[in-house]
Amino acid sequence: MKDKKHIVLLGAGYGGILTAKKLAKKFKKNEDISITLIDRHPYHTMLTELHEVAADRVPEDAIRIELNKIFAGRKVDVVLDEIENIDFEQKTLIGASKSYTYDYLVLGTGSKPAFYGCKGAEENCLTLWSYDDALRIKYHILDTFRRASKEHDPEKRRQLLTFVTVGCGFTGVEMAGELGEWSRKLCKDFYIDPEDVTMYIMDMLPKVLPMLDDRLIDKTQKRLNKLGVEILLNSNITEVKEDGVLINGSTFIPSETIIWAAGVEGSDIASGLDIEVTNRGRVETDEFLRSKDKEEVFVVGDNIFFIPEGEERPVPQMVENAEHSASTVANNVAATINGGQLKAYKPTFHGMMVCIGGAYGVAQVQTGNNAKPMKFSGFLAMFIKHFINVIYFLQIAGFHKTWVYMMHEFFHVPDRRSFLGGHFSKRSPNFWVVPLRVFLGYQWLMQGIHKLPGVIADPSNIFLIPAKVTAVSGASAAETAEVVEQAVEAVSSATQAGAAEATAEVAEAASAWGAALPVPEFIQNIVNWSMDLMFYTPDGGFTAMASVFQTAMVVGEVIVGLCLIAGLFTALASIGSIAMGGMIWASGMAPPEMLWYIAGSFATIGGSGSTFGFDYYVYPVLKKYWKKVKIAKKWYLYTD
Ligand SMILES: Cc1cc2nc3c(=O)[nH]c(=O)nc-3n(C[C@H](O)[C@H](O)[C@H](O)COP(=O)(O)OP(=O)(O)OC[C@H]3O[C@@H](n4cnc5c(N)ncnc54)[C@H](O)[C@@H]3O)c2cc1C
Repeated sequence: MKDKKHIVLLGAGYGGILTAKKLAKKFKKNEDISITLIDRHPYHTMLTELHEVAADRVPEDAIRIELNKIFAGRKVDVVLDEIENIDFEQKTLIGASKSYTYDYLVLGTGSKPAFYGCKGAEENCLTLWSYDDALRIKYHILDTFRRASKEHDPEKRRQLLTFVTVGCGFTGVEMAGELGEWSRKLCKDFYIDPEDVTMYIMDMLPKVLPMLDDRLIDKTQKRLNKLGVEILLNSNITEVKEDGVLINGSTFIPSETIIWAAGVEGSDIASGLDIEVTNRGRVETDEFLRSKDKEEVFVVGDNIFFIPEGEERPVPQMVENAEHSASTVANNVAATINGGQLKAYKPTFHGMMVCIGGAYGVAQVQTGNNAKPMKFSGFLAMFIKHFINVIYFLQIAGFHKTWVYMMHEFFHVPDRRSFLGGHFSKRSPNFWVVPLRVFLGYQWLMQGIHKLPGVIADPSNIFLIPAKVTAVSGASAAETAEVVEQAVEAVSSATQAGAAEATAEVAEAASAWGAALPVPEFIQNIVNWSMDLMFYTPDGGFTAMASVFQTAMVVGEVIVGLCLIAGLFTALASIGSIAMGGMIWASGMAPPEMLWYIAGSFATIGGSGSTFGFDYYVYPVLKKYWKKVKIAKKWYLYTD
């Protein structure tokens, strides 16, 4: 038996997670390889969304995903530990609870805030670089507003209501923008005049977001100002004290809230490693993203220090770099083990998106290496940002995380803090929809019960599908009357004892064709084409498929009706109701009342069965069991 090889990944950040997933796929069936992912937290944190929790836009757990969920059913062992040192000679990670040996190591420990030796900054600033940081900021700000609302000393109150963000890069701008938006609500909640609140964002550089085009910079500044944030540029923070910041050695701004977002350096562990590391704590790598000193040590994400060919600067410490490097590292680890071709790291970066509050953003997108960047602001920029997030979530936790994200960002977002406003997040109690649900169910049930005897008597007697009429193809709307007449005739001639009543009803409906809902010609053509294909024999009769379809339709009406009345699987039944309504409409036989069937079904999709319905009891039990099913876990096909 061959020796088992151990791949250990340190850090479940953007880079570590994706590398682990890709490696798990590559070595899925290889029993000689073990993959272990170690992190100090049992969850992956979406660092790019930290400001949303820090300023209470989304619930606290919105930016975390449990590692066990991400790797359920995959060949990755998740280990919870804090790694304190790495012995590269012994190929061992020394953790707080135990040591771990490796044959191949992937380092992805990310960054931490850099204070550049600014006096008092580390001791007196809040930082925004972890889930805990975000919570600390949120509760600190809430407490500050609470204290300010009770403070009578004007100077102290002013100090409490002065908020400083240091750093005009994307982290600082996102934090300051979010705070500006949140402060309006806080003022309302704590009965504070918004005029009493002062918010600053400051930087020693002369520009906000200097990597962006000037027009976007201008828009960013205007938006920040609109949210009440004052921008102080060319402002070098020379000292941070417990009670404020000193700018350029002379101007003191009293504040109890100083958020440091001025820069990053390698994580604690990366900075102290016994391999070649830059003074900013990044590991020097070759083009294959291996440490320059140790071939078996690969590096992903922010930890990489690598200057791509033709570039002057190292790869940026951004998510896109983490994602790209994950593919390269996974490929190269596999190639090293299997003896394949190593892939050189050739990243392409597509720009950046920055949100300034939940409703506005700016984005600069680069589509090719030499292409002129495209600039977006407002709705489009936010759309791009959310779209990119969704793509990432689909990769790491599929439907589950995407669903949760959409709920938090669009459907449950409070105070209109979304680029879609509050239009999708207005909520009303489900019980108002119960009468509609029951009535809709009753209507479908009656439709089904009416036709059921006909189907039972002779399933091959087709009365829901008009007989084939050659004039139909290419017929204009004006010619349909003739077509219908023929259809009615065909239907009448098909009348049989058991189907008499149903047939008469269809004929009646068909004779009212003139009043039927109009159907665009291209849809008519598609329907005619598909009916030709499935339902008609060459000699003008009906196929067996037509009988199956008709029976399914009638049984479907009964089932949908019963489910809606009982409030059982209501969402599915409502979707079924929309689909049936849509089919009847597309066939050109929908009376205007079909419109309210469809409109009503949209209203009942969203959980109306969980009020006075069986879903209230059935869903929680089903969810519990469904989440344990292998396929659901592996493909993230569940909601919490
Ligand atoms: C507030 C904020 C906003 C940002 N916005 C953007 C943005 O809009 N766009 C963009 O592209 N980038 C943005 N970034 C940067 C982006 O988040 C990073 O580039 C990215 O997270 C790097 O991924 P990574 O895998 O290298 O490390 P990380 O995602 O930081 O993950 C590192 C992991 O290592 C673990 N770890 C570290 N040390 C140890 C140890 N000793 N033992 C055990 N576990 C350890 C940590 O717990 C963590 O899970 C933002 C960052 C922040 C903080």
